This record gives sequence, structure tokens and C-alpha cells, in this order.
Amino acid sequence: MKRVIKAYLINSSIRRKLTSLVMLTCGVVLLSTTVVFTVKEAVSLIGEQNRNLTSLADILSKNVTSALIFNDPQSALETMNSLSVKTDILAAYILNNDGTIFCSYTARGAKPASLPLPQLLPGAIPHGTPNAVTHISLRLNQLWHGPDQVNLTRPIVLDGKIVGTVGLIADLSKLRAHLLSTMLVTLIILGLAAIATYFLSLRLQEIISEPILHLSDAMRRVSESKDFSLRVVKPGNDEIGSLYDGFNEMLHEIEERNLVLQQRQEHLQELAHFDILTRLPNRALFRDRLKQAMNLALRNDQQVAVLFLDLDRFKDINDTLGHSIGDMLLQQVADRMELVMRDCDTVARLGGDEFTIFVQDIKSAENACKVAQKLLDLFEIPYCLAGQQIYISNSIGITLFPADSNNIDGLLMNADIAMYRAKADGKNTYRLYNSEMSKQGTDRVALQSDLRSAVDLKQLRLLYQPKFDTLSGRIVGVEALIRWQHPERGLIPPDLFIPLAEESGSIFAITEWVLNTACHQAKLWHDAGYAGVTMAVNISAVSLKRKNVVAMVEQALANTGLPPDLLELELTESMLIDNNLMAEETLRVLKDLGISIAIDDFGTGYSSLSYLHRFPIDSLKIDRSFVWNMNRSSNDLAIVVAIIAMAHSLKLQVIAEGVETEEQLETLKTCGCEVIQGYLLSKPVGAEEVNALLMVG
Ligand code: C2E
Ligand code: MG
Ligand code: MG
Repeated sequence: MKRVIKAYLINSSIRRKLTSLVMLTCGVVLLSTTVVFTVKEAVSLIGEQNRNLTSLADILSKNVTSALIFNDPQSALETMNSLSVKTDILAAYILNNDGTIFCSYTARGAKPASLPLPQLLPGAIPHGTPNAVTHISLRLNQLWHGPDQVNLTRPIVLDGKIVGTVGLIADLSKLRAHLLSTMLVTLIILGLAAIATYFLSLRLQEIISEPILHLSDAMRRVSESKDFSLRVVKPGNDEIGSLYDGFNEMLHEIEERNLVLQQRQEHLQELAHFDILTRLPNRALFRDRLKQAMNLALRNDQQVAVLFLDLDRFKDINDTLGHSIGDMLLQQVADRMELVMRDCDTVARLGGDEFTIFVQDIKSAENACKVAQKLLDLFEIPYCLAGQQIYISNSIGITLFPADSNNIDGLLMNADIAMYRAKADGKNTYRLYNSEMSKQGTDRVALQSDLRSAVDLKQLRLLYQPKFDTLSGRIVGVEALIRWQHPERGLIPPDLFIPLAEESGSIFAITEWVLNTACHQAKLWHDAGYAGVTMAVNISAVSLKRKNVVAMVEQALANTGLPPDLLELELTESMLIDNNLMAEETLRVLKDLGISIAIDDFGTGYSSLSYLHRFPIDSLKIDRSFVWNMNRSSNDLAIVVAIIAMAHSLKLQVIAEGVETEEQLETLKTCGCEVIQGYLLSKPVGAEEVNALLMVG
């Protein structure tokens, strides 16, 4: 039972609990008040009746004393008949001292049978008072209460002696009726009070439970909608008000935490999908968007152009100006690209200086080329980085979906291959992908991988092309020209594999090998008595950028014991211009070692000749294209003449390369060119053949 009540209390609503509590409290209070009041009323009524009866009995005893003394029951009865005015007196009797009835009176209408004295006859012993006489002295003033009557006996005293007893039997029914009606009224009041309490408690619980229900409703709404910006207006400053404050505070805290969480998630999302440096989409996001664009294009029968853009000479900028400038450049490049592209197109950074772009709904390959040209044009304006103006170009590869490939990897590979073609074709240009490029592309990758082991597998060899003094016809030096004896592809010329070696980084091992082999050979000729024969070694742009090129040269000289003045390094003009500061410093160090520096392919590079002053150069090698054309084009002849004159004025030696005809030789001699090199006199040959030539010369 206890458990049932407890379960009821726990599970019922606050509203019901409050109502029950108020009703219970009120019920207990009202009921106890009613009981107390009723009992008090009963006690007071009975007390009053007793007092009345006692005084009536006393008056009666006084009035009947003489009748009793004189044994005159008639007179006593007359006296007692006056009791008829007292409607509540049912009967009265006078007892002799022996307990017998002296005289009795019964009210009109009262049934003696219903009285405790069934036979109120003179001489009879009243019922219920068997010991009245014996105990009369002790039981004076005693009341015997029956269910409907009360019986009071009082002694009749004369001169201090008890001469008899007077008894009164009074009716209690009126009293009881009065009490009952009082109780009824009280109960009605109780009922009304209970009803009033119920309604009051309803209002009370409304005042208490309404805000709680409102709060619980707000909680439910928050948990359903997950909208933590909701706030509740507190109803007052009581405990429920504090609960509201706490709830609002909690929501505020959750909201703030959610905000932080959201920011973190956004940041993570950004990290996962965007390049931190440029804020452009990264590879993952690019692929995702491209996939969507491809699906859309398939549905709408459209084309998508994918462009792969790589900055030219970006490594130089990073190496010479530092990575922070390089980063700034990448940011500015990204900004410019985003400016010219439409919103529906995506520009992404794959990493390093590589960017990818896709253009949706491109109508033709020409339009894709126009976009590429627009991107190239962006780079015509110099970039301003840390106060310096920097010109940079880029190379772009273009491929089309679905024509070139129907998958993302294929498209990216095609665009990459086309970009490499653009680079190979002189940079600062774009190329549209075609399947022929792919074949070359895969060749390129395979060759690059073979090239890594070419030095170790001793697949490289050097040929030497002699340089002749125009006047004496003697060999004054040789140029080391590398060949790669590929096990499957045969002899591969340097033009094909040197750029690959530069890209993959195997150029350093190759340069080191060339320097050591060439110096070793030169030392052999030197030791064989051909003392003045110099050895020219071609140094690639990438190798020059590496600070350790000096160490490499020193090591080769130390390894072979070749006098430094017999070693000549051939560099191209562009290498000096591109690497301005670093190249100048490197060349000075090399020069200090006693090595000669020659500018190879002179005339094809930059129009500015100012660098000739700045760099410690010993000789210029006139590019073979001028030599070949000088007898056909007066312009080319003019250039050759000008180069020779300028070189002489700068105290530089002039070497003409690619001399194939006697006519060319004669012209060069006339112009005052000291040294010539070309197929006319000797193709690049092996060391033994050079030996033979040296012996003859
Ligand atoms: P280069 O330094 O200008 O070398 C001269 C190139 O012209 C050589 O081609 C040579 O064989 C060729 N040549 C010489 N005389 C004539 C001629 O009369 N007619 C014609 N048609 N060609 C002639 P090769 O050996 O194929 O070398 C090409 C380029 O490869 C070289 O140009 C040089 O820049 C680079 N190279 C060669 N060997 C090395 C090397 O060991 N290291 C590096 N980094 N580059 C090298
Ligand atoms: Mg050369
Ligand atoms: Mg050359």
C-alpha cells in the first residue's frame, strides 16, 4: 500500500501532487477542527444540561422535602407536575432512604417502558439504580446516561441529614438532534471548504506548475528543434525564476560551445578542403567539384575544360628570394586567378606552384584556349613582392572532358602532360592535350625512372668535341658532351634526357659524374703532354643553383689532379640572368679557383648585355644558329661581327660553334674569331679519337 502511494506520488504530475497535498492538508485541518468543535459543542451542551438538571433537582428536592417528611406523596406529585413545563424532563422520582420510590412523575407522551425505570411505581426499585440507596451518599450528583436519556440523582437534605433522593430523567434526543444538526452544518461547511480549497489549490498549482510546465515545454522544443538560441522569460524572482535563469544560462553555454564546435568543425572542414596558404580549394575539393561538373556535363551534353597551370621558374624565386616571398607570390597568383575566373568555375591549388582549373560548359577547344590565354595574360603585369617587382610566367596544359578522358585521374594526367609540353615548348604558353603527347609523356616518366640508375649502371659516356684555333688549326680544347647508352632505346642525345634529369633531380649525380670523368680525361691528356688542352663541361641551370656546385668542381679537381685553368664551365645566358645574385657569387668563387667560364649559345638569350660586365666571364660561344645563317642573312652576319667585336673589346675569347662549312670557317676567320668548333673539323668523338687528333695536330 505504502509502495502504491509512493509510486503514485512519484509518477503523478506536479499538478496532481500539489492538488493532493493541498486537499490532504486542508482535509486534515478541517476534519480535526470539526471534530474538536463538535466534541466541544457536545461537552458544553451536556454540561449545561447537567447544570440545569442539577439546579432543577435541587429546587425539586427543596420543594418536596416537607411532603417527604410528612409522607404526602400527593403533595410531592403536585410539586413534580410543575415539571411539565420542562419539555426535556421525561420523568422524575423521589426515593425514600430505603431506595423505594416515594413518588414519581412521568411526562405526558413519555413511555415509561422506554425509560430506565420501567416501573415508576411507588415502592418499586428503580431500574439501573439497584444500589441507589446503599451508594446514595457516594453517588450523589451521579449521572447515568443511556442512549436517549440521562438520569440525575440528588440527595434531599434536611438539617444536614439525607432524607431521600430526587431523580430526574431528561430526554437527550433534542440535544442529540441539536448536536447532529451542528455536525451537519459543520460537515456542509467542511464540504464547501473542501470545494473552495480544491478550486483554490487549482489556482495555486496553476501559479506553481504553469511556469514549470512552460519550462518543460521550452526544453522539449529545444531538444526537438536543436535551436539553442531560444530563451525563456522568467515569471518571477522565486525559486522557479532561478530555475529559468539556470535554464537560460545552460542554453547560452550550450550555444557558445556549439559555436566553438562549429567554428572548429568549419576550420577542420576548411583544412580538409581548402589550401591554407591561398584559401583556394585543395585537391580533394577540386576532385569532388570536378566530379559533379562532369556528371552535369554528361547529363546536359556539355564539355568541361580542365587546365593545369604551373608557374615557370617558381623554384628560382623560392631559392633566391626565400620561401615567404614565394608564399606571397602564390597568394597573389591565386587572387588574380580567382578574379578572372567565373564563379561557377573552380580554381584549386594542388600543391607547390601547381594550380588546376576547370571550366564548365565550354563550347569548344578554342574557348578553352582563350581561357588559358586569359590566365597567361594575368602574368604580364609584374607582381609586387616585398617592394620588388617580379615578372613570372606560367605554362598551361588543357584537356577536355569527355573527349580526352572520362575520369578525373585521366583528365588531370592529360592536363599535366600538356602542361609539360607547354614548358618544353619554351614556357609562358599553353598547349591543348592530344593523345600523341600521352605516349611521349609515359616515355618521359619511364626515362626519368631509368635515368636515376643510369650513372650507377654506367650507361653514360662522354664524347669530346675538339675546339680548334682558327689560325694554327691546333686543338686548343675539347667540350665534353654526354650520351646515354640506353639498353633498349639505344643512344639518347642530351637534349632529350638533360631536361628530364633536371626535373627529377638526377642532374646532380650526372653533373658530378661528368665533371669527374671529363677532368680525369683532361688530366690524362695533360699528363700525356698535351698541356694546353682545356676541358669544357656544360653545367645545367639546375646544377648552378645548387650551392654545392662549387664543392663538386673542387672535388673533381682534387680527385683527378687537373690544374683548374684547364677546366672551363659552359653556362647559358639565361642561367646568369635568372639567378642573378646567386650566380654572380658562385661564378666568383669558381673563378677564384682558377676555372674559366664560357657563355654557351651566346646571342639566343637576353638582349641585355649588361651582365657581361658583372660576371667574371672568359669566353663567348656564338650560337650555331648565327653561324649557320651568317652567310645567308646579313643580319646574322652583323650579329656575329658585333659579338666578336664586343667580345674583343671586353677582352673575351670568342668561340664559334656548329661550324659545318669552309665558307663559315673563312667568314669567321675574317671576322677575327679565334676558336671554332663544328662538324667541319670534328664531330663529338670518343677519347681515343681525340688522342689520334691530338697526335696529328
Ligand atoms: P651545346 O653545349 O651547345 O653543345 C653543342 C651541341 O652542338 C652538341 O650537341 C654538338 O654535338 C652539336 N654540334 C657541334 N658542332 C655541330 C655542327 O657543326 N653541326 C650540328 N648540327 N651540331 C653540332 P649535343 O652533344 O647533342 O649536345 C646538345 C646540348 O646538350 C649541348 O649544347 C649542351 O647544352 C647539352 N649537353 C651536352 N652535354 C652535356 C652535359 O654533360 N651536361 C649538361 N648539363 N648539358 C650537356
Ligand atoms: Mg656547350
Ligand atoms: Mg652551344
